[in-house]
Amino acid sequence: MRFDVLSLFPEIFHGYLTQSLLKLAIQNALVEIHLWNIRDWAQGKHHSVDDRPFGGGPGMVLMPDPIFAAVEAIREQAAEPGLLVMLTPTGERLTQPLVKELAQHQRLLLLCGRYEGFDERIRLGLRPREVSIGDFVCNGGEVPAMVMIDTVVRYVPGVLGDPESLVEESHNDPGRLEYPQYTRPRVFRGMAVPDVLLSGDHGAVARWREEQSLARSRRTPNENKPTSTIREGEGHAKSTDGSGGGVGS
Ligand code: SAH
Repeated sequence: MRFDVLSLFPEIFHGYLTQSLLKLAIQNALVEIHLWNIRDWAQGKHHSVDDRPFGGGPGMVLMPDPIFAAVEAIREQAAEPGLLVMLTPTGERLTQPLVKELAQHQRLLLLCGRYEGFDERIRLGLRPREVSIGDFVCNGGEVPAMVMIDTVVRYVPGVLGDPESLVEESHNDPGRLEYPQYTRPRVFRGMAVPDVLLSGDHGAVARWREEQSLARSRRTPNENKPTSTIREGEGHAKSTDGSGGGVGS
């Protein structure tokens, strides 16, 4: 599987890609990760990639020009055009079912924002799959892109030592969490491993794990609850001159 990461700070990825599972997956040619600096497609003598928002407000917005140019050029780098993913807190929530779906693609292009995010025409023109890693705001799309890579590569055959790891894992069935796990020592600071796990009775172990998994799943809020408190007709913007804020006025 091939990932192309488009970022203004591609160096952020180096430590992550050179350790543990990712390092092995890359060494074994199961996963290819190409890092690209969006600034390389910036125009003009200042190589700007961002500018102030029209209408005012804080911060800087990523301009469409360099991002369109980068996406178009990088798409050409392989026969498979791939799925363009925009990391954005306004996107669809990354969940295990979405991770599995993304893992079906041969190639993902991950577009990482910075500052105040993307000019809207990047979304309108490039029609990416928009994905959020959760209801919070990160400083940039790099950590969200790493989260996506980290979750998706687990489904690339050969990346995990034992593919069974995926089956009993939390969230494999939506909302279902894994049972508690224990290893040595048998007693640690007065806390003993449950007897059933030492019994050698595979049936009893399986029943205990099933019960524990269900109990855990019940006590944790699993649903992706709608978290918005905004109701119909509510909004932050206050119209001061009667010309803005309303539709059909
Ligand atoms: N002003 C934007 C946030 C910009 S944060 C807003 O209010 O919606 C800067 C960049 O970080 C974004 O463009 C995006 O690429 C990335 N980012 C921040 N939080 C994210 C999240 N929860 N999921 C995915 N990407 C995120």
